[in-house]
Amino acid sequence: MDIGSLNEEELKAYLTGLGEQPFRARQIFQAIHKENVLSINDMTTLSKNLRSALLKDQDLDKLSILKEYRSKVDDSVKLLYELADKNIIEGVLMKYKHGYSLCLSTQVGCRMGCSFCASTKEGLVRNLTPYEMCQQIYRVERAYGINISNVILMGSGEPLDNYDNVVRFFDIINSKNGKNLSLRNITLSTSGLVNRIYDLAKRKEKVNLAISLHASRDDYRKEIMPVARRYCIEEIVSAAKFYSEQTSSRITFEYTVIENLNNTDADVERLSKLLSGFRSHINLIPLNPVDGFKGRGSGRRSMEILKDKLEKRGLSVTIRRSLGVDINASCGQLRIKHLTKEVDF
Ligand code: SF4
Repeated sequence: MDIGSLNEEELKAYLTGLGEQPFRARQIFQAIHKENVLSINDMTTLSKNLRSALLKDQDLDKLSILKEYRSKVDDSVKLLYELADKNIIEGVLMKYKHGYSLCLSTQVGCRMGCSFCASTKEGLVRNLTPYEMCQQIYRVERAYGINISNVILMGSGEPLDNYDNVVRFFDIINSKNGKNLSLRNITLSTSGLVNRIYDLAKRKEKVNLAISLHASRDDYRKEIMPVARRYCIEEIVSAAKFYSEQTSSRITFEYTVIENLNNTDADVERLSKLLSGFRSHINLIPLNPVDGFKGRGSGRRSMEILKDKLEKRGLSVTIRRSLGVDINASCGQLRIKHLTKEVDF
């Protein structure tokens, strides 16, 4: 039993099954998700008998920080974590004026096959559990003595391909008896799994949705993102509008700018038609070089021109800072380099 992945009600049912009083559920839930306790032996409010019973099949220590890489050009820290089964995942800690943000992984590897992404090179290994997602936060908070105030599901993995565990993670991390992280401070980034965007929208929660669009036409999107063969851009935008209506939130469209391939005037026209008329925002992203990707990233000036053209058509646009270029902060790069022994340990 993975008690760290149970919400308080489920924990209550589990403990009742062990013949324990229901109030123990809150004690254990708070110890794990509020007090960041990593060992059942350290839960001193529990009776010795209960600790022994739990210890029989519980291990709360699911993940450790294997290595950190501090950027020399900004405040970002790239982290490699080792899971209990020795799988490797990664994340990025970023410091902003408003606090600390942590980019989380939701799967070991990914099966989406985006051509600009290193996370998918080895395919999907397995889904992460809700507690493994929580523990990425708890471990970093513990190691650096900080409070993570924003979380972005944008590390390795397609969060909506691990839908059940991700929504359970939301439930746990948002619990007032746990970390109590507001769902408004969580951003889920998806390659555009339309059916799951609808499912998530129907929950009417306030999780921010970011969609990796990266193209204004389906033929080019199919070249760089195999998921585009399942869902065309219009279907994605329709799902995004529905999500925006259901949650009263603005949808961010991530758009990695690739010179001459997705930043032409025709792209500007198509984007303005697609993304006007609802609460949308375009985040232009500089390409972080990934081995094997053929396109060339646009320079700063070219990105500013694109931003200007889109804004003139009434769209809301920002250019994202490219964090941690020197530490392989792009999706999955560090894990792959670790697996292929290209980084030193
Ligand atoms: S960009 Fe995201 S969805 Fe695409 S392969 Fe990488 S991890 Fe998967």
